[in-house]
Amino acid sequence: MAGTGKNEEVLKESFMTKRSQNKRAFTHPNWKERWFVLSPENLIYYDGDKQSGRRKERGRVKLSQVVAVECVDTEVFHRDWVFQLCYNSEENEQIVLYIAAATSQERDQWLDHLRRLVAQNPCLSDHYHNGCIKGNQWTCCKGGKDVSACTRVTWTNNNPVGQPTPSPTPDARSEMMPQRKVVVALYDYNAIDPGDIPLRKHEEFEVIEDTQEYWWKMKNLQTGVEGFAPSNYVREKETLGLHQYDWYLGDATRQRAEVFLMQQEREGCFVVRNSTTNSGIYTLSLFSKRSHPQVKHYHIKKDAEGNYYLSHNIKCQTIPDLIFRHQHNPAGLPVRLRPPTHGRHAPTIPGPHPDKWEIDPNELNLLEELGSGQFGVVRHGKLRNLDVAVKMMKEGTMSENDFIEEAQVMTKLRHPNLVQLYGVCSMYRPIYIVTEYLKNGSLLNYLRSKDKVLLNNNEILLDMCLQVCEGMAYLERQKFIHRDLAARNCLVGAHGEIKVGDFGLARHVVDDEYTGSGGAKFPIKWAAPEVLNFMRFSSKSDVWAYGVLMWEVFSCGKMPYGKAKNTEVVEMVVQKGCVLDKPRFCPDNVYNVMRKCWDRTPEMRPAFSDIIRIFQDE
Ligand code: AMP
Repeated sequence: MAGTGKNEEVLKESFMTKRSQNKRAFTHPNWKERWFVLSPENLIYYDGDKQSGRRKERGRVKLSQVVAVECVDTEVFHRDWVFQLCYNSEENEQIVLYIAAATSQERDQWLDHLRRLVAQNPCLSDHYHNGCIKGNQWTCCKGGKDVSACTRVTWTNNNPVGQPTPSPTPDARSEMMPQRKVVVALYDYNAIDPGDIPLRKHEEFEVIEDTQEYWWKMKNLQTGVEGFAPSNYVREKETLGLHQYDWYLGDATRQRAEVFLMQQEREGCFVVRNSTTNSGIYTLSLFSKRSHPQVKHYHIKKDAEGNYYLSHNIKCQTIPDLIFRHQHNPAGLPVRLRPPTHGRHAPTIPGPHPDKWEIDPNELNLLEELGSGQFGVVRHGKLRNLDVAVKMMKEGTMSENDFIEEAQVMTKLRHPNLVQLYGVCSMYRPIYIVTEYLKNGSLLNYLRSKDKVLLNNNEILLDMCLQVCEGMAYLERQKFIHRDLAARNCLVGAHGEIKVGDFGLARHVVDDEYTGSGGAKFPIKWAAPEVLNFMRFSSKSDVWAYGVLMWEVFSCGKMPYGKAKNTEVVEMVVQKGCVLDKPRFCPDNVYNVMRKCWDRTPEMRPAFSDIIRIFQDE
């Protein structure tokens, strides 16, 4: 076990990602992997790597100075399993350290250990901020930097804050029991496997086992029935907040909200979402047919006493109260509010069952053909009662053993904007790749078939790009290179959601026509100069391809470089340094992002996480 430099006892240690504390106000905070070591007195973090064991201390927090140990609203950072340690510095400033664990279980273990070690601190606070500072405001309460914490501490650990119990002895520490985790179902879930339990919205469950990241064993607190259910269908009761309401869409963009409400087509139908322009502020989006069907957006304001209001006639202490009042009285709004009839769309089910990536073909019921692509025919299918797409790999197109190994890794990649790989049937030939089914097919065909509606509808087109970018930023964080990002490899779901597909497949293709940059099937028009020259793939070559995808989106599915032959494109891009022209209706600021993606020096291209920030600042 690694020491802490002073022969301190090590209670827990692991790699986690830490958010920079942004001492220079003009730099964007970034996240870095650090080796965290917990001793009875300190939390210390180091850089360095696992292999060499050489580490340099980067900072430490005295546990006696810790004021709060809490979760953070995950949507604030676009990453999962973030927790915070709020402490007093030597200069007596209150500082927050944000740390992202790799899994929920890991986060809960750290929370548990830290909370037990700080339980006696006289400086413990009974309030904290469950957001972070963005600009000069807290995202949670939109108060200024120095405003007092807004959220009540929910942690008691059988050990209410303010009434500390004696510090645990080392023996007691090793026997620490994890806290009881109670979750609330956000969506209905119909059991797929015999070991599953169904979830009904708003029901409460105790989590019995969360060793699998995406399938937790839970006990229904009303019926006592136990079984597995997807962890992304529930939310911890402690951080439930507005998520319990069907009308709350969290970080959905303005365009997502519009698409959602237009589909419902009900007078007065509304949603509340976090404002994309002002962090910490909520926006009400409201559908009305009064003059013509349209969605209007209103900021929910807060007065000096902290009351929420949409018009001065009605002020309430909470947003649900405000919504309730406006359901009965329009009071300044064009119509009375009516909650959506269909709630938020349920997220993708994370694969058919706990880490079972090899699928028995007898469990698959193959239906109509959806299309055919690079690797063979794709068919719609049912895996028990789950809709799936089945890609039947043309024999000889893949280096199969490598791919099957990689499939195990790929089943673990999960993001709302990635096509979920459910598993493979690799025992027979052809190999089947089984993924989530997306009703509206490929993004390229979708853009082409809807070009009349979409062309010049820049908000929707930008939202499509942003969705792809979110999926790619996740892959970038996982250090996974796509290698064949293009509109043809993205898919569109029933509600207009865009997901990136076919990630990593390119690496396993054996077809020379596809793998060499001189081959007829090689995606030359999406390839960065360093790929064309040296076959050097990286997340930054994915960024180049992403710029081309943005161009495809804003030209509604045109072929990049028109009819130019591959050899001509190579000459233009590699030798002459040409890039694609601005699509006809594309705004300048969007084209500027494309140009950044096409920087000839890979290191100068923005990362996907930077592009998200650029979009959000627009
Ligand atoms: P691909 O082999 O990925 O290029 O897929 C060929 C065609 O099959 C695509 O253009 C889509 O129309 C369709 N397709 C592929 N995957 C899916 C999916 N997961 N859901 C629905 N349609 C799909």
